[in-house]
Amino acid sequence: MLTKKNALVIGGSRGIGAAIVNRLTREGADVLFTWSGSRNQAEELSRRTGARAVRTDAANRAALLATVREAGPIDLFIFNAGICISGNPLTLDPDDIDRMIDINIRAAYHASVEVARLMPDGGRIILIGSTNANRVPFTGLAAYSMTKSALQSMVRGLARDFGERRITVNVVQPGPTDTDMNPANGPLSDLMHSVMAIKEHGTADDVAAYVSFLVSAEGRGITGSMQTIDGGFSA
Ligand code: NDP
Repeated sequence: MLTKKNALVIGGSRGIGAAIVNRLTREGADVLFTWSGSRNQAEELSRRTGARAVRTDAANRAALLATVREAGPIDLFIFNAGICISGNPLTLDPDDIDRMIDINIRAAYHASVEVARLMPDGGRIILIGSTNANRVPFTGLAAYSMTKSALQSMVRGLARDFGERRITVNVVQPGPTDTDMNPANGPLSDLMHSVMAIKEHGTADDVAAYVSFLVSAEGRGITGSMQTIDGGFSA
């Protein structure tokens, strides 16, 4: 279904990003993805799917924008890279918080704008946010949730900026999803499940399937929106 589409996934080596790379290649897209720390996973994913991989630290704006430019015209852009720094705000290292802001917000904004320069009409921009943009029921998540809330107004605004070119811009907001960042058997799982309607982690493949619909031709009317897939975490 996505044959002849060029896709770029920022942060595709593991977890949700890797599931998106897998899904888009399976649907026929020509996929390039970036990675930063996980060389083995990136190389294995590349071998398995045929997607091309390039090392780029999303926190390095110049390097990130160079990678986006070198990718040429991109039809489907997914910004998935993200880190979660959580804990007592009084004791968290401010440098760690700033690095999270660099990756989760600044990189998402600058890469989305850069990719839009060459994006053909009817292209797709998807940012991976979090249900924590809507609801923060636990301590220690203020800064992380703030970074994901920023994506909400980002997509509202960029959807207006690029709407004339029929480019859609949306944020997909997963709830607890079984990855290295948030393993289903982790120590906080019971707490997370206690605020969910469906008391289990989702899978990265569920999120990738949702992304695949949004980038399809049928997704053309969905823009400037928050698409939440969280087992009722924010209900
Ligand atoms: P993982 O930690 O499992 O994977 C994170 C991915 O982001 C890796 O591919 C990693 O690449 C990449 N990444 C991180 N930092 C950088 C960087 N500086 N430059 C390039 N790539 C980077 O996380 P998830 O798959 O769980 O999360 C993916 C997204 O989904 C994140 O934005 C996260 O905030 C969001 N999310 C996750 C939820 C969950 O429960 N899992 C819930 C809600 C939102 P590498 O290892 O190569 O550095």
